[in-house]
Amino acid sequence: MAEASTISLARISVRGVVQGVGFRPFVYQMASRHNLRGWVCNTSEDVKIEVEGDAKSIEGFTKDLREQAPPLAHIEGMTVTDGPAVNYDKFEILRSVAEEGKYQLVSPDIATCPDCLKEIFNPADRRYRYPFTNCTNCGPRFTIIKDIPYDRPNTTMKSFRMCPECRKEYENPLNRRFHAQPNACPVCGPQLELRLAQGTRVECEDIIKKASELLKKGQIIGVKGLGGFLLACDATSEKAVNRLRQRKKRPGKPLAVMVAGMDEVRQHCEVDADEEQLLLSPGSPIVLMKWKKDSNITRATAPGLTYLGVMLPYTPLHHLLLRETGLPLVMTSGNLSEEPIAKDNDEAIKRLNHIVDYFLMHNRDIYARYDDSVMLVEQGLPRFVRRARGYAPYPVRLPFKSKQILACGAEEKNTFCLTRDNYAFVSQHIGDMENLETLEHYVNTIGLYEKLFRIKPEIIAHDMHPEYLPTKYARELAEKEKIKLVPVQHHHAHIASCLADNGVKGPVIGVSLDGTGYGTDGNIWGGEFMVADFKKFERLAHLEYLPLAGGAQAIRKPYRTAIGYLLGLGISLDKNLPMFKYLNENELEIIKEQVSKGINAPLTSSMGRLFDAVAALTGVRGIIEYEAQAAIDLEMLAYIAPDETGAYPFKLEEQGGMSVIKLRDLLVSVIADVLKKTPEAVIAARFHNTVAQMILETCEAISAKTDLKKVALSGGVFQNRLLVRKTLPLLESAGLEVYTHRQVPCNDGGISLGQVVIANSMEE
Ligand code: ZN
Ligand code: ZN
Ligand code: FE
Repeated sequence: MAEASTISLARISVRGVVQGVGFRPFVYQMASRHNLRGWVCNTSEDVKIEVEGDAKSIEGFTKDLREQAPPLAHIEGMTVTDGPAVNYDKFEILRSVAEEGKYQLVSPDIATCPDCLKEIFNPADRRYRYPFTNCTNCGPRFTIIKDIPYDRPNTTMKSFRMCPECRKEYENPLNRRFHAQPNACPVCGPQLELRLAQGTRVECEDIIKKASELLKKGQIIGVKGLGGFLLACDATSEKAVNRLRQRKKRPGKPLAVMVAGMDEVRQHCEVDADEEQLLLSPGSPIVLMKWKKDSNITRATAPGLTYLGVMLPYTPLHHLLLRETGLPLVMTSGNLSEEPIAKDNDEAIKRLNHIVDYFLMHNRDIYARYDDSVMLVEQGLPRFVRRARGYAPYPVRLPFKSKQILACGAEEKNTFCLTRDNYAFVSQHIGDMENLETLEHYVNTIGLYEKLFRIKPEIIAHDMHPEYLPTKYARELAEKEKIKLVPVQHHHAHIASCLADNGVKGPVIGVSLDGTGYGTDGNIWGGEFMVADFKKFERLAHLEYLPLAGGAQAIRKPYRTAIGYLLGLGISLDKNLPMFKYLNENELEIIKEQVSKGINAPLTSSMGRLFDAVAALTGVRGIIEYEAQAAIDLEMLAYIAPDETGAYPFKLEEQGGMSVIKLRDLLVSVIADVLKKTPEAVIAARFHNTVAQMILETCEAISAKTDLKKVALSGGVFQNRLLVRKTLPLLESAGLEVYTHRQVPCNDGGISLGQVVIANSMEE
């Protein structure tokens, strides 16, 4: 019998992702195991626990809370205080309490767990082949939640009444489905339906079977998933894939593929242990992996590319469909190029009817649009290309307590970011802010985040570019709500983002390489070397300014960039260069005029454009079908010459305290190689070596001047994994410590994170 004097009571508060992830049943079980009485309760802010029992048991209990938390829980902080004994007679789970102004972290949507998967494929189970099976360890979360606390009435599952069996699971603290808000079964939950493109229902015995037959016949099906509709078709059929491309108006851009399991992934890609781990993780992203030569997935899915984006099924519906079909399926966002992903049934029928042949839909509503995340593993680290499903809205933890800020992000690959306390809530990938549909999605999603995390911004940060849609939105909002505006330079934001991503404050040598960003001098920057911290930056080196003949037109037509650069550098135009096949005399005259008179020929220091120019000079790519395609072509070519060690010359020239990287020698040498008929792969490899060398020498020069030894690499150019592979070892062997992105993309998807940390420091 325990003595009265040893009885004590502990009040525990646990913060983090601790709701909707099976945390309370876990607490319940731990309390029983340690013979403790009291209660556990979800609030808007945390999970609160009171336990009473002998001191030793309480100690063991708190230790287990930390060490044995359920797989999806993410404990951010835990406080334990003593209290007077109450004499509880049992341990119970109390009703959730909503508290005004308080907030909590929200779990991302999670791929189907192994336990649910077993049930779906077990003919004896009541959820056999049920496409909406989930439990506290898996299933939809963020995409169905309208408000906190995370309880069923606050989700799109509200309209489904649980049957007695489901309710029993839901109410039993020892059940895997205890308080699993989307809990459902064939009797009471959402149902599938098959429809024609125009919306007419197709009656059939077995919808999954029917859909699989249609896919095998080459049909395109709009499949409703977690965060929107995906367009599915047979990935081994060139005809089906090309039809999808034509209808979606997406000519060359790579498409992602879903395969049934790891064995299937290995049939198509070379997979290392890190990539396998990433594929199988709860986030279940699309992973870009080396595509095998003998894979029977048609090259039309990713024309000309060495890498293929593959994901595993992440909902029961996907698992059923993939197994039944027995084929790899293209699974790409259900949208017309550049528009947001379609999420509602009516909306899908309206927007996608000319793309799909059929719809595989259901009656569980999606509240938040959510694209698939895209990642790759390079230098042993998983890296984001696009961050959405499975990750957002999980925040980046800041190394300081932040004001409440809204950062509006960049124009392309937009994300926004909202902050409070130590958290930066970087939104899921919103998309290219080029049309009203995307703007609407953007505004709605900002509203959702503000509501979920109870944030009311006191500062709005935005890119300096006056024409960006998010900039215009920021200005209008600031005017309307009388909120302070902070403009942030694009490349400074990239570097600050990389610092915040790594939890370092700087100063560092920042290498910010991308396609386009508005400079403080009004020119288009993109090949920038700076010393930066959260507060300020000083530009110390950049690629030399060259004219971009025709502005945006040059970005679509790299041959224009190349010709403009040659003219700008006074290099004679040799008509034997293959790029002349792209243009006629007339266009050449226009370009000459643009450059000589400086009309519609803005100056740029962009590294992205240098890649374009070299791609055009070699004749590899004169016109692009999607962003960065010319640079990607060069990267793919360079893989063919892995042993090439040659590089081209360039000069670092001091111009009034600024180092300017002169490109004349480089381009003259590239032209000489092209005219000598040096293989394109060799030229591409030499060019990559040159850029890596350029980064090294410029960083060393800045390090010598400033004594800084830390380097942060950011900007879309670093999505080029070959460049990362060549640059990192060079910098490290020169004794420099290198930071790269981990939690947000290096491309413009990471800009919003940089904007908030800069805006917050400027206010200090
Ligand atoms: Zn599960
Ligand atoms: Zn049920
Ligand atoms: Fe950028």
